Amino acid sequence: MSYWSVLGTGVTGLCVATALARAGEKLEVITSERHRPASHWAGGMLAPFCEGESAPDVVVEWGQRSADWWQAHVSGVERHGTLVIAPPRDRMELTRFAKMTHGHQWVTPGEIEERLAGRFARGLYFPTEAHLDPRNALRELQQALLEAGVAIHQGKPTGKIIDCRGIHAAARLPGLRAVRGEMLILHSDEVRFSRPVRLLHPRFPCYLVPRAGGHFMLGATMVESNDTSPISARAMMELLSAAYTLDPALAEARIIETGSGLRPAYPNNLPEIRYQDGTFHVNGMYRHGFLLAPIVAENLIQQLMQETR
Ligand SMILES: Cc1cc2nc3c(=O)[nH]c(=O)nc-3n(C[C@H](O)[C@H](O)[C@H](O)COP(=O)(O)OP(=O)(O)OC[C@H]3O[C@@H](n4cnc5c(N)ncnc54)[C@H](O)[C@@H]3O)c2cc1C
Repeated sequence: MSYWSVLGTGVTGLCVATALARAGEKLEVITSERHRPASHWAGGMLAPFCEGESAPDVVVEWGQRSADWWQAHVSGVERHGTLVIAPPRDRMELTRFAKMTHGHQWVTPGEIEERLAGRFARGLYFPTEAHLDPRNALRELQQALLEAGVAIHQGKPTGKIIDCRGIHAAARLPGLRAVRGEMLILHSDEVRFSRPVRLLHPRFPCYLVPRAGGHFMLGATMVESNDTSPISARAMMELLSAAYTLDPALAEARIIETGSGLRPAYPNNLPEIRYQDGTFHVNGMYRHGFLLAPIVAENLIQQLMQETR
């Protein structure tokens, strides 16, 4: 049995640490106050079928297991599916999306989300998808680790390293690049949705993910850049305009927060477990950290167990 030092308290580090602790391994988690995790800005959608529009089959296959994992580990996993809609001028986008994905049914959006009644003729409903509040989920994973006696600190690692530093490990990982995502948190007393609603658009697709207390995460841009500056005016205008198309009452919502995070991605946009120079690297979650990190963490544990047999 080894003593492990997991670097990073984003979703990858915390899922890896949780899986190690459950496997009975001894570990510590090294955190850094210097960098806010990309995970902090995530929408928290667990949407394997929708992601299948652009992601390989393995994402769809593995992603279908993640809602169960999250439900077993944190509270607040909402399993109400995803609704995908398009403005009338982009209705062909819906047909294209339907062809590229499975696990959906055609619906009249107002049947699924009352607020959309009369404004969108057709939509795609993915009933088995789920969502969670990423910040709560990360907090609860950390709390459970502390309660299990795992030290989480900013000191020097003393064990065998499992590096889960996301984009901050790029200098060690050839090919790892940043994909910037910009987002907003809105608050509305009037608008209520029970599930993520995705609005298709040829250039600016967006989604609205409901959170507790009338809050919504509105996201997200996909920019090939490692720019960590605040959200751009263009991104804010495009996202808010899409939100207005989705529900005009959102014009009266309050902007509570804006932010941008860097998704760590390899050239094929798939996560990898690499072993180099005596260190395990678990990275490349791209836009699927919440969807895939639990499964990749389990794969890592299996790999470690096989190696120590
Ligand atoms: C706007 C946006 C929306 C998204 N929406 C979704 C979604 O709906 N569903 C989904 O599945 N995914 C989503 N993602 C993707 C997801 O957020 C990422 O895949 C995920 O956050 C990557 O997690 P990570 O733990 O690998 O990296 P990070 O979350 O970036 O964590 C890296 C950690 O390493 C730490 N660190 C850095 N340097 C050191 C050091 N020297 N020592 C110790 N620790 C260090 C950092 O502080 C941080 O805690 C979204 C991303 C963005 C930006």
